[in-house]
Amino acid sequence: MATPDQILAASRYRAGGGALFTSSKCPPGPGLENSCQLPFGFIYTPLSPPDNIQVVPIHDENLPPVICLTCLSYLNLYCDVDETTGVWTCALCGCKNAAPPESFHNGTLSPILISPIVEFRQPIAEAHDRVNTISVVVVMDANLPRAEAQAVGSALQAILPEMADAKTRINLGFIVFSKHVSIYQLNSTGVASADIFSTHEGLTEKHLESRQYLTEIGQDGSLECMWRCLSAVYGVVLDNEEGSEINVSKGKQLSRLEQLKQRKETRMRKELERDDDDPDVVVKSPWVLAKENSASRHPLRCTGEAIQCAIDLVASPSNVDLIESRILVFTNGCPNYGDGSVVYDDRDMTTTARARPTADVVDPLKLSGAVEYFSIIAKAAVEGGIAIDVCCSGASELCLPVFQALVEPSSGYVLPHETFAGPHLKHNMNHFLKETNMTMAACSESQAEKSKSLAPSGCTIDIRMPSFVNPTHLVGPGEILDDFKGLLLNERSAFAAGCKLAARIGMRTNHLPQKDFVDDAVTRLSMGRKDPLSTFSVMLEINNFFQKDAFAFVQCIARFVDRRGQILITRVFSHRISIANDVGEFLDSIDEEVVPVVLGKEAVYRSMYGREIDARNEDETEVATSDELDDLAYDAQKDLDATIHRISVAFRLLGLEQGNRGLDLTEEGGIRTVGSSIDFAFPPELSDALRRLYHLRRGPLLSPGPMRSDDDRAQIRSLFLRLPLEDCLCMCAPSLWRTEVTPECKSDSVEWIAVPPESLALWDKTAIVADCYHSLFIWFGRGVPESFFDSIRQQARTYLLDRSVIRFPMAEIYTVSEGESMDRRFTALLAPSYGDPVDHQVANFPALGQLSPQELESLRCKFRFYDPTSDPSFRTWFWDVASATSSSKEFGLSLCE
Ligand SMILES: [Zn+2]
Repeated sequence: MATPDQILAASRYRAGGGALFTSSKCPPGPGLENSCQLPFGFIYTPLSPPDNIQVVPIHDENLPPVICLTCLSYLNLYCDVDETTGVWTCALCGCKNAAPPESFHNGTLSPILISPIVEFRQPIAEAHDRVNTISVVVVMDANLPRAEAQAVGSALQAILPEMADAKTRINLGFIVFSKHVSIYQLNSTGVASADIFSTHEGLTEKHLESRQYLTEIGQDGSLECMWRCLSAVYGVVLDNEEGSEINVSKGKQLSRLEQLKQRKETRMRKELERDDDDPDVVVKSPWVLAKENSASRHPLRCTGEAIQCAIDLVASPSNVDLIESRILVFTNGCPNYGDGSVVYDDRDMTTTARARPTADVVDPLKLSGAVEYFSIIAKAAVEGGIAIDVCCSGASELCLPVFQALVEPSSGYVLPHETFAGPHLKHNMNHFLKETNMTMAACSESQAEKSKSLAPSGCTIDIRMPSFVNPTHLVGPGEILDDFKGLLLNERSAFAAGCKLAARIGMRTNHLPQKDFVDDAVTRLSMGRKDPLSTFSVMLEINNFFQKDAFAFVQCIARFVDRRGQILITRVFSHRISIANDVGEFLDSIDEEVVPVVLGKEAVYRSMYGREIDARNEDETEVATSDELDDLAYDAQKDLDATIHRISVAFRLLGLEQGNRGLDLTEEGGIRTVGSSIDFAFPPELSDALRRLYHLRRGPLLSPGPMRSDDDRAQIRSLFLRLPLEDCLCMCAPSLWRTEVTPECKSDSVEWIAVPPESLALWDKTAIVADCYHSLFIWFGRGVPESFFDSIRQQARTYLLDRSVIRFPMAEIYTVSEGESMDRRFTALLAPSYGDPVDHQVANFPALGQLSPQELESLRCKFRFYDPTSDPSFRTWFWDVASATSSSKEFGLSLCE
């Protein structure tokens, strides 16, 4: 039997390479009134590990004739196939096509008719024998403390060699920046040498020709060179325990003499580096120098120019066998010098009145300019197939929007870490370096034709749907491709073969494909990079072309090049939904997990970018100020409230029409409790979803205000928009488990019992473990004897780590005792239920019945000092929003509109 953790790990990818729909039935007619004001749509995680996949064998390089000549959708298990003639009827457009009849018997095409997920794997010519190259340029902030730099080195040491193998070599480049950009030559033996560039002075062709900045790792031990650079810049200690990694990398122990030599070199390099730091230093007077040194207590970072250098470096066309380029940025503060700076520097000063130090103060105008700058260089980078990721550490302000603009075109990650010196950095880098990629086809220009028609990042996605369905809202990484929706180059052979067969049996093949139909039916996206976690949320609208057809058919196609650049994969997911007879039947078919995530993603999207769907591509460099972000979040909350209000009104109306659905449920459910009067006002199948949305609304994902920093909120919101269903469910609301601790109980094996995530769960004699996605908490009530702490903490850690083992980014574990200052950070995440009437409290959380009236009263009193009006309980919020007089219907716009 699978353990709960295994089930959890497996359930991460419930999508299994396909899409999850909000309901198993299609609404019975157009407009939101036919869906009880609920969203109809799906969550699509195209590259998640598929289960039940069928692979169609392809022996030459050509796709078999599996493409509908009229609408270009792929043959699938919902097509009618006449196996004697090979004629198949398209499930989307209903037109007839032809395939070789024998292919349905000899196994060539028969796999297609078995599974909703099918993969075609086309080998790319000439890609097999060559050794490919991955370029990795590390861009490091010289202001990182030594321990942080050392941790970065260790993580790179652990991961990079694993990316190389007999068929793949890694070329490494190393750039350090502060006030200047230093590009190191890793291959040079002996002294670590760098070319230093001041601001506005980039890499030239001449530099790239005369220097070899990228060096292969592995055989010649150039990671050792990286360590030498780290040692020279940060004074990273080489000859202690951590330094022994160098020896490991070389596969042999250094002799005593070699160690001494290395140590001396390190010392000399440090001195050299100090002198070399600024080329102008020698001509300056000691007084000027002293002044400069005092100014440099503000750490300077020409981050933008360093990244520009890195892009120039990897984009240099020397490598024909290059299949992937990565830039990894490690920093602990915002860019504050040179191009892309977010603060004023001396050159911007028009008056002397503006006093130093300005290095720490972010200027909104400069921030907008910086976001634009980073966005432009990142877009140029993605055209060249370069993926960029940023890891930040420390506690200073990072100006996350700047880094987000930098990673967005390649769908990279910006990951703030409390420190690099922990397991988190390696865990997180492991995901984005090894699980995600932007691999291009490994073949020369002339043979790259097949993959060239893909998006620059190498992944193109089509979503096809019938003419009576329009996509209305789309949230996810990547961008919509509006220009071209026709046949891709790799599909031409399949189309031609299909035409030939069709003509042979006398079918019409002229004027095909039908361009208008294809344009209407297809939404084409480019995914920034290939990431198994990348998820799109799509809301659909039934339009007036709706006819009570028997089915709605949706097909999602992802095309991408495999990690080695040798195979072009076309993954086709086909799904057929029957149409509900009436709204009640539609409501019965609702998926209570998909609905809140589709609504939540739209709400969080609006909290970052506003309601205007169309503004998405236009004004993306416009950065909202902190106040504007608060306003957007308030509006998104209002929109969520309006959505709930409208669902509730529609549901009650439906109840009146259909002889009260709620009452029917009572009969089935037996005992009706006080709290479930909500079942009359909201679809009972969505009661968990409703609570999740309430938590989402008051938590850091949607709530404005000072609970978290701007950086924190930007980070978790952008993750929420791109992660799969299961992660989003976990991010919406915390999950809690409790164990009662009394002096009599055995502490060596505790049992964790799920409890609702509300403040009344915080009993005195209780230990609680909580999973809030990014943060895991172990909480001790004040009645827990201290002698139990160690043992319970150990078991709690194991429990939480098992739950979060595959999570990305890696979660932090906090241990808090009741009454500590950190305690507030945990309790603030819980629904404030202490102000509700007692009978409601017990109805929603029956375990409270075990407490004596005195204990319950003292539990309620723990929270007396919080203001329930600014942070309503679930009950107060729902009835306020659902009431006929609710203001939400005037101020909010439904998330489905
Ligand atoms: Zn068709």
